[in-house]
Amino acid sequence: MMGEANCIFCQIVAGKGEASVVYRDELVTAFMDVFPVNSGHTLVVPNEHSEGLDGVGEMVGGRIWAVGRRIALSFGQAGIRAEGANFFLANGAVAGQTVFHCHLHVIPRHSGDGFGFKHGVFSRGRPSRFELDEQARKLALQIG
Ligand code: 5GP
Ligand code: ZN
Repeated sequence: MMGEANCIFCQIVAGKGEASVVYRDELVTAFMDVFPVNSGHTLVVPNEHSEGLDGVGEMVGGRIWAVGRRIALSFGQAGIRAEGANFFLANGAVAGQTVFHCHLHVIPRHSGDGFGFKHGVFSRGRPSRFELDEQARKLALQIG
Protein backbone atom coordinates (compact mmCIF):
# COMPACT_ATOMS: atom_id res chain seq x y z
CA MET A 1 0.00 0.00 0.00
CA MET A 2 1.30 3.44 -0.89
CA GLY A 3 1.44 5.91 2.00
CA GLU A 4 2.39 9.54 2.39
CA ALA A 5 6.16 9.73 2.01
CA ASN A 6 6.92 11.56 5.23
CA CYS A 7 4.21 10.12 7.42
CA ILE A 8 5.45 7.99 10.32
CA PHE A 9 2.11 6.22 10.70
CA CYS A 10 1.98 5.35 6.98
CA GLN A 11 5.41 3.79 7.42
CA ILE A 12 4.15 1.77 10.38
CA VAL A 13 1.07 0.65 8.42
CA ALA A 14 3.34 -0.41 5.56
CA GLY A 15 5.48 -2.43 7.99
CA LYS A 16 8.49 -0.19 7.38
CA GLY A 17 8.53 1.89 10.54
CA GLU A 18 9.43 0.29 13.87
CA ALA A 19 6.25 -0.42 15.82
CA SER A 20 4.73 -2.78 18.36
CA VAL A 21 1.65 -3.87 16.47
CA VAL A 22 -1.43 -5.05 18.36
CA TYR A 23 -3.74 -5.65 15.43
CA ARG A 24 -4.02 -5.13 11.72
CA ASP A 25 -6.59 -5.87 9.05
CA GLU A 26 -7.44 -4.52 5.62
CA LEU A 27 -8.76 -1.23 7.01
CA VAL A 28 -6.96 -0.37 10.24
CA THR A 29 -3.79 -0.93 12.26
CA ALA A 30 -3.34 -0.65 16.03
CA PHE A 31 0.03 -0.25 17.75
CA MET A 32 1.52 0.95 21.01
CA ASP A 33 2.12 4.67 21.51
CA VAL A 34 5.84 5.29 22.10
CA PHE A 35 5.11 8.14 24.55
CA PRO A 36 2.24 6.60 26.50
CA VAL A 37 0.06 8.69 28.81
CA ASN A 38 -0.25 5.48 30.81
CA SER A 39 1.33 2.09 30.20
CA GLY A 40 -0.72 0.29 27.53
CA HIS A 41 -1.71 3.45 25.60
CA THR A 42 -2.55 2.25 22.08
CA LEU A 43 -3.25 4.04 18.80
CA VAL A 44 -5.69 2.85 16.14
CA VAL A 45 -5.19 4.32 12.66
CA PRO A 46 -6.79 3.97 9.24
CA ASN A 47 -4.45 2.16 6.85
CA GLU A 48 -5.16 4.76 4.20
CA HIS A 49 -3.56 8.10 4.93
CA SER A 50 -5.82 10.94 5.96
CA GLU A 51 -4.66 13.91 7.94
CA GLY A 52 -7.99 14.40 9.65
CA LEU A 53 -11.46 13.01 10.23
CA ASP A 54 -12.78 14.32 6.91
CA GLY A 55 -10.95 11.57 5.02
CA VAL A 56 -12.07 8.75 7.30
CA GLY A 57 -15.47 7.46 6.23
CA GLU A 58 -18.02 5.66 8.35
CA MET A 59 -16.87 2.19 7.33
CA VAL A 60 -13.25 2.76 8.34
CA GLY A 61 -14.27 4.96 11.28
CA GLY A 62 -16.57 2.22 12.50
CA ARG A 63 -13.75 -0.30 12.35
CA ILE A 64 -11.45 2.07 14.25
CA TRP A 65 -14.08 2.33 16.98
CA ALA A 66 -14.66 -1.42 17.03
CA VAL A 67 -10.97 -2.24 17.34
CA GLY A 68 -10.48 0.51 19.94
CA ARG A 69 -13.35 -0.96 21.93
CA ARG A 70 -11.84 -4.43 21.83
CA ILE A 71 -8.49 -3.08 22.99
CA ALA A 72 -10.05 -1.05 25.81
CA LEU A 73 -11.98 -4.10 27.00
CA SER A 74 -8.82 -6.25 26.87
CA PHE A 75 -6.51 -4.11 28.98
CA GLY A 76 -7.25 -5.92 32.24
CA GLN A 77 -6.87 -9.42 30.80
CA ALA A 78 -3.65 -8.32 29.11
CA GLY A 79 -2.18 -7.35 32.48
CA ILE A 80 -2.40 -3.62 31.80
CA ARG A 81 -3.50 -1.51 34.74
CA ALA A 82 -6.89 -0.17 33.74
CA GLU A 83 -9.79 0.74 35.95
CA GLY A 84 -11.31 2.44 32.92
CA ALA A 85 -10.30 3.85 29.57
CA ASN A 86 -10.54 6.96 27.43
CA PHE A 87 -10.92 7.27 23.70
CA PHE A 88 -9.33 10.48 22.46
CA LEU A 89 -8.99 11.85 18.95
CA ALA A 90 -7.35 15.19 18.17
CA ASN A 91 -8.65 16.54 14.88
CA GLY A 92 -6.42 19.48 13.94
CA ALA A 93 -3.46 21.18 15.57
CA VAL A 94 -5.73 23.40 17.65
CA ALA A 95 -7.22 20.23 19.15
CA GLY A 96 -3.75 18.97 20.07
CA GLN A 97 -3.00 16.86 16.99
CA THR A 98 0.74 16.44 16.52
CA VAL A 99 0.91 13.51 14.09
CA PHE A 100 -1.10 14.31 10.99
CA HIS A 101 -2.38 10.85 10.16
CA CYS A 102 -5.74 10.50 11.86
CA HIS A 103 -5.64 8.23 14.92
CA LEU A 104 -7.71 7.19 17.89
CA HIS A 105 -5.95 7.08 21.25
CA VAL A 106 -7.07 4.23 23.50
CA ILE A 107 -5.79 5.16 26.95
CA PRO A 108 -6.01 2.90 29.99
CA ARG A 109 -6.97 4.93 33.06
CA HIS A 110 -6.47 4.42 36.75
CA SER A 111 -7.28 6.60 39.73
CA GLY A 112 -4.81 9.38 40.36
CA ASP A 113 -3.10 9.16 36.96
CA GLY A 114 -3.71 12.87 36.40
CA PHE A 115 -5.02 12.63 32.85
CA GLY A 116 -8.29 14.27 31.91
CA PHE A 117 -10.13 17.31 30.64
CA LYS A 118 -8.66 20.56 31.87
CA HIS A 119 -12.18 21.88 32.40
CA GLY A 120 -14.27 19.83 34.77
CA VAL A 121 -18.02 19.96 34.34
CA PHE A 122 -18.44 22.30 37.31
CA SER A 123 -16.03 24.90 35.95
CA ARG A 124 -17.88 25.18 32.63
CA GLY A 125 -20.69 27.58 31.87
CA ARG A 126 -24.17 26.27 31.14
CA PRO A 127 -25.71 27.80 27.99
CA SER A 128 -29.43 28.54 27.84
CA ARG A 129 -31.76 25.84 26.49
CA PHE A 130 -32.49 28.20 23.59
CA GLU A 131 -28.81 28.30 22.66
CA LEU A 132 -28.45 24.51 22.94
CA ASP A 133 -31.60 23.97 20.86
CA GLU A 134 -30.33 26.36 18.18
CA GLN A 135 -26.99 24.55 17.95
CA ALA A 136 -28.72 21.18 17.84
CA ARG A 137 -31.04 22.37 15.07
CA LYS A 138 -28.18 23.73 12.93
CA LEU A 139 -26.08 20.60 13.40
CA ALA A 140 -29.03 18.32 12.69
CA LEU A 141 -29.60 20.15 9.39
CA GLN A 142 -26.00 19.48 8.40
CA ILE A 143 -25.71 15.85 9.35
CA GLY A 144 -29.06 14.84 7.90
P1 5GP B 1 -1.63 13.39 18.74
O1 5GP B 1 -0.85 14.37 19.58
O2 5GP B 1 -1.45 13.69 17.27
O3 5GP B 1 -3.06 13.22 19.14
O4 5GP B 1 -0.99 12.00 19.03
C1 5GP B 1 0.17 11.55 18.44
C2 5GP B 1 0.66 10.40 19.27
O5 5GP B 1 1.62 9.69 18.52
C3 5GP B 1 1.33 10.82 20.58
O6 5GP B 1 0.64 10.23 21.68
C4 5GP B 1 2.76 10.33 20.43
O7 5GP B 1 3.25 9.82 21.64
C5 5GP B 1 2.63 9.26 19.38
N1 5GP B 1 3.80 9.09 18.54
C6 5GP B 1 4.59 10.06 18.01
N2 5GP B 1 5.55 9.51 17.24
C7 5GP B 1 5.35 8.17 17.27
C8 5GP B 1 6.03 7.06 16.67
O8 5GP B 1 7.00 7.20 15.94
N3 5GP B 1 5.53 5.82 16.93
C9 5GP B 1 4.45 5.63 17.74
N4 5GP B 1 4.05 4.38 17.93
N5 5GP B 1 3.80 6.65 18.32
C10 5GP B 1 4.23 7.91 18.09
ZN1 ZN C 1 -0.06 8.63 6.94
